[in-house]
Amino acid sequence: MTAASSPDQVGGQPGAGLAATGLTPGRPIVFRNATVLTMDDAHHVLYGADVLITGDRITAVGHGLQVPEGTAEIDATGGILMPGMIDTHRHMWQTAMRGYGADWTLTQYFVWNYLQWGKSFRPQDIYAGNLLSAIEAIDAGVTTSVDWSHNLQTTEHADAAADALQEVPGRFVLAYGNIQAAPWEWSAAPEFRDFVSRRFSGGNDMLGFQMAFDVPPASPEFPEKAAFEVARDLGVPVTTHAGVWKVTTDEGIRLMHEHGFMTPSTIYVHAASLSADSYHRIAATGGHASLSTESEQSAGQGYPPTWKLRQHGIGVSLSMDTSVWWSADLFSAMRATLSADRAREHLEAHGKDETVTHHRLRAEQVVDWATRGGARALGMDSLTGSLEPGKKADVVLIKNDASPVMFPLLHPYGHVVFQAGRGDVHTVVVNGRVVKYDHRLVGADLGKARQVIEQTVDYLRGELGPDAWNEGMHPEIPETRVLDNPYTYTYTEDQGPAS
Ligand SMILES: [Zn+2]
Repeated sequence: MTAASSPDQVGGQPGAGLAATGLTPGRPIVFRNATVLTMDDAHHVLYGADVLITGDRITAVGHGLQVPEGTAEIDATGGILMPGMIDTHRHMWQTAMRGYGADWTLTQYFVWNYLQWGKSFRPQDIYAGNLLSAIEAIDAGVTTSVDWSHNLQTTEHADAAADALQEVPGRFVLAYGNIQAAPWEWSAAPEFRDFVSRRFSGGNDMLGFQMAFDVPPASPEFPEKAAFEVARDLGVPVTTHAGVWKVTTDEGIRLMHEHGFMTPSTIYVHAASLSADSYHRIAATGGHASLSTESEQSAGQGYPPTWKLRQHGIGVSLSMDTSVWWSADLFSAMRATLSADRAREHLEAHGKDETVTHHRLRAEQVVDWATRGGARALGMDSLTGSLEPGKKADVVLIKNDASPVMFPLLHPYGHVVFQAGRGDVHTVVVNGRVVKYDHRLVGADLGKARQVIEQTVDYLRGELGPDAWNEGMHPEIPETRVLDNPYTYTYTEDQGPAS
């Protein structure tokens, strides 16, 4: 297709603004000549196909589509068009400390955030982290993110979190939590109820709501029951870190199950170090897991559990957890998840002196988890997660004509998981609105995010002081002893190797 000859072909200089591209709000958009991963129930893949967006909906998917007069055309030749990705667990406020904890374990994360410095975050710091994280998400093609916002010490913090999410043209779910108080305390506060009715009373599929808290095995009296009852009363889902090594265990799952609080809308984050009995309880009640594979691998919640979840028939969604270590990049989530599952399968087989000759988990399934799986977990499957007429237009075009990695394009699912990266995200549409085009953000104020983040980092650096700041970033390294070697090896230039 030589789309340049079309009068409706969009173009313009990079960064020249939306008007220059012709992608003005309300104008229908058609992507032409893409490899389309529909992620519909049959996982249809269409080659050289078009997708038409009218208003906030996908209105047609197929070949050579007839489009309304004045439709803007995006040439997707050489690219992959897929549903917007969905991250079901992300502590967005922590993006203000991007990369700071790269060398942390989960223990160090808990000490820094829960015991030492989490309390220092003011409402404007929550706002700053959320604003940057929200922009980062849409830039990476993550059109829906759950903000697992567990440092809402006051409702001023909560308003700041919601304000940031509403400023950015992505789809978000605010999962309200507060690590500085017990869930049965903060959820009982009148101002919490007031916040929910103020900000979430009208139906709004751009900003959803969940309650976020954990059930550690500290008390067999199950005081969290009161918080679950608030969630039930409000009719909102609960998301909970479950199966985190030595932190949340089978005991929490048992208590939730016996009290009737495990439902199809419950999300179990990590779900790593659990027994078969707990997985059976999750599967039987229809709940979904949110896997943060890079987190589980690095921080130590337990081995990324897809190899077990698959055996129990539990729905999987993907997440990135926190930018204190990782970025809002579901390409890396897909890659890490597929690799971790296969690594485990090989390891288990080798332990039995066997060889895996055929992988069970396919790239196709992991793309499903990054899109449809997230929509199912969030109860949004009728809205988003696939490219089908009638669904909301959350669409990502992966295309990069300047990259040697975008051809040949032979195995589209494998290309998404193992070849492409966030730098290849060309165009992102959320709810029918173009938020990124030609590798440039549209309508997100990155300059403002930079300014508020700098203020927050300056403030936190001052609160900690230089010693605590540096010690927090560079934890001690345990001693590693090089093993005794039974062989000796010497080398002389005249004689060559000798032993
Ligand atoms: Zn988490």
